[in-house]
Amino acid sequence: MKKEIDVLLTNAIVLTMDENLTVFEPGAVAVDGEQIAGVGEEEELREKFAPRETLDCAGKVLMPGLVNAHTHVPMTLLRGLADDLRLDVWLLGYMMPVERAFVSPEFVRLGTKLACSELIRSGVTCFADMYYFEDDIAEATAEAGMRAVCSQTVYKFPAPDANDYEESLDRTRAFIKKWKDHPLIVPSVGPHAVYTCTPEILREASSLAVEYDVPLHIHISETALEVENNREEFGMPVVPYLKKHNIFDAKVIAAHCVHVDDGEIQTLVHHKAGVAHNPSSNLKLASGFAPVGKMLEANLNVGIGTDGPASNNDLDMFEEVRLAAFIAKAYTNDPTMLPAHQALLMATRLGAKALHVGHLVGTLEIGKRADMILVDIARTHNTPRFRRDANSIYAQLVYAGKATDVSDVMVNGKWLMRDHQLLTLNEAELLKQAEGFAQKIDTFLIEREGSLLSKLLAIGGATETESYEVQAKVRIADPAPIIEALKKPGIEVLRFRHYHEYDTYFSFPDPKKGYLRYREDEFIGPDKSVEQVRYRLTLIGPAREGRFESDVLLSRSRFIAPASHSLRFYREYFKPVDEVSVIKDRLRWRVLYQGTEFFINIDEIEEPNLGYFLEVKSRTWSRRDAERKAEAAIDLIDFLDVTTKETVTEDYIELAQA
Ligand SMILES: [Zn+2]
Repeated sequence: MKKEIDVLLTNAIVLTMDENLTVFEPGAVAVDGEQIAGVGEEEELREKFAPRETLDCAGKVLMPGLVNAHTHVPMTLLRGLADDLRLDVWLLGYMMPVERAFVSPEFVRLGTKLACSELIRSGVTCFADMYYFEDDIAEATAEAGMRAVCSQTVYKFPAPDANDYEESLDRTRAFIKKWKDHPLIVPSVGPHAVYTCTPEILREASSLAVEYDVPLHIHISETALEVENNREEFGMPVVPYLKKHNIFDAKVIAAHCVHVDDGEIQTLVHHKAGVAHNPSSNLKLASGFAPVGKMLEANLNVGIGTDGPASNNDLDMFEEVRLAAFIAKAYTNDPTMLPAHQALLMATRLGAKALHVGHLVGTLEIGKRADMILVDIARTHNTPRFRRDANSIYAQLVYAGKATDVSDVMVNGKWLMRDHQLLTLNEAELLKQAEGFAQKIDTFLIEREGSLLSKLLAIGGATETESYEVQAKVRIADPAPIIEALKKPGIEVLRFRHYHEYDTYFSFPDPKKGYLRYREDEFIGPDKSVEQVRYRLTLIGPAREGRFESDVLLSRSRFIAPASHSLRFYREYFKPVDEVSVIKDRLRWRVLYQGTEFFINIDEIEEPNLGYFLEVKSRTWSRRDAERKAEAAIDLIDFLDVTTKETVTEDYIELAQA
């Protein structure tokens, strides 16, 4: 008697992607409930099964659904927001500030549904995500009927869904408990990367993943800079550092692994880590070329991912598979490298294994979940077909196939797309809502870009306080008499310091917006050695209160932030129209004069060679106090016996003219 089943797909070119790369033509696949009940020659399956529904797949390839091994699905809503930037400027200057302002449960649900529409259309049935509010992402994904490894992000910064990492970890624990036994969702913990996590976060994330036996998803060695910084700070590359902090105790999904050496590859193999190779993202962000050939040769499970749609900018796995093959060939100067069938394996069986769900999906085999797709290979751009070489079917899919050739998609035995029609998502409505979000984000960024201060605040660090500044600055011929005058009665020296300062001034088209100064301060000790270095970024507003009695600048706003990024980062983020660099030797006294604290600076400007300047400065938060201090400053200049009194206005403008 024939076994009753739900669906029999017949008359197909069945690519099983199993260990032997078995192909059946004409082949059939039997689906019962969530599972694959039979795979083989059509004739044989027709004899065995009595299907409630039969689907004729003439001219089409029937294969396992594609696995997108690394992405950030809600970022569909940030697609095209900022492009052609370096990773740090893109991530820290644009993505993270916009995410802090906009990412909410509503945002991630919409972004996820938009992504699921695109993923299903391109034949993806399973993906590995990493983002915030992962519980909402999991819900939206399950509603769309897709399979996913959903990783809740944990890192050291305040996140859109948590004030600190402890809150993130609590959120992750609750998330894992809730989804642990779901038929479509595999919950996971996502410590973002080595440069965004502390050792405690890495250790706690790992122990959480081990406790619940769920995967741990992390970005590893994406850029050369990441590896360089890790070596400098911890004396080792990224993989051994992560090993030291227990990361590989967990089932790791390692995104990128662009800059890993042979030893690190062995560590990944030893700990059965899965790797997600992201060709488009690595190309677009110029991150480098992952040693994919070496990793595959070492028997690593290397899958293929699109990465987030803000750095790709789409979720098209057909494009990724093709690029993976092309890059491997170009990078090794060897056209036999990563042949089509192997590239397609990465997007199916190996990808599923990389996500630690290889026992469930990735091949068409009896007992596996019915996650599969139909691809039309008889269209204009993919005709004719040759049969001499068994591999040509893979070449057809990888080198000429397109995402739009996918006509039908099934996940867990349920149809998500039939004949190009999405069955679980309302695409038109999603597109409309996405446009609405884009308009809001546009307005937010246009406003931010209009002000240096809000741009500075967006990348964090600066405290939003404004003060009055009293400043008298004069050119002097010789510092010796002033240093002598500081010993006279009537003035008390509270502290003395010696600095060497390297300043870079950024100027902008509208001088009313002020200018930025990036300063590297070297503290010089009594023995002339550098004791300490400090980096600061200062936004210097234009003089607003004008000048007091022609010699003293009364008011100017200043916002100071520790400069935690490189000069190059700030240059690319703020995009100044002009730059001036100044090197000076500064002797600085903090003094008490007429009951007021002043800073007295004697600067020798070495580059450009401008000689000596005397500066008397004080800050206050009240205007009346500023006026009083301005008078005291004029007295102090007299007291210091300054002979030449050539007043200098704003340092930057003076120097730029020089
Ligand atoms: Zn990523």
